[in-house]
Amino acid sequence: MIYRKSPEEVAAMKRAGRILVDTLNRLEDAVRPGITTGQLDAIAESAITAAGATPSFKGYRGFPASICTSPNHVIVHGIPGPQVLEDGDIISVDVGVFYEGWHADSAWTFPVGDIDPQAAELLKVTEASLDAAIARCKPGLRLGDVGHAVEEVATAAGFSVVREYAGHGIGRRLHEELWVPNYGPPGRREIMSAGMTIAVEPMVNMGGWETRVLDDGWTIVTEDGSLSAHFEHTVAITPDGCEILTLREPR
Ligand code: MG
Ligand code: MG
Repeated sequence: MIYRKSPEEVAAMKRAGRILVDTLNRLEDAVRPGITTGQLDAIAESAITAAGATPSFKGYRGFPASICTSPNHVIVHGIPGPQVLEDGDIISVDVGVFYEGWHADSAWTFPVGDIDPQAAELLKVTEASLDAAIARCKPGLRLGDVGHAVEEVATAAGFSVVREYAGHGIGRRLHEELWVPNYGPPGRREIMSAGMTIAVEPMVNMGGWETRVLDDGWTIVTEDGSLSAHFEHTVAITPDGCEILTLREPR
């Protein structure tokens, strides 16, 4: 069942998105060598709860924390804890906010101190792949067109795209029907129409696309140990394009 949202419902999701953006901004300000991923989780949880919202991920299928923290070769779903971030690391933070009955979901990958040029290129290209994907979010185009846009940008830079994990429908539930791939041919999958709300979330690896799940049952890493970056926005399809509900203004 694909739930299309009214403009009022999209506006409600955007309110969750604003809390999420504020949380991401606080996390960006906090990321530095010496901080632990557990401290980032605490910062996010207090920002979300102080706004009267709930972290979408805490307790989701038993997930033990408020955000996912995925450093270096961790792709997604890393569990915050005692790991200390070091100069030269990259850290993906994935945040979900549940506010007045609606979810928003967004992720960003930040540099920790000074990172090498290849890592900086990975972040730049992954963010650009998200922008290219969102440029294809409009009525009449298909979700396969969105995935194809990600793959084009990432592979042109010599990187690879994770295949087993993808974006998703979002709304009253964190994960609703609709699989938003990050690769594959254009012209396939569902046709987008106004009122669809989706999370678009490219995961781009410096090496191969293959993944592995660690023994904790959550943490997804690159099989070859190469760096991975992750950027995500929650997007509403509008009559003439789309609106990013988790838009971050340049700071
Ligand atoms: Mg997310
Ligand atoms: Mg998501």
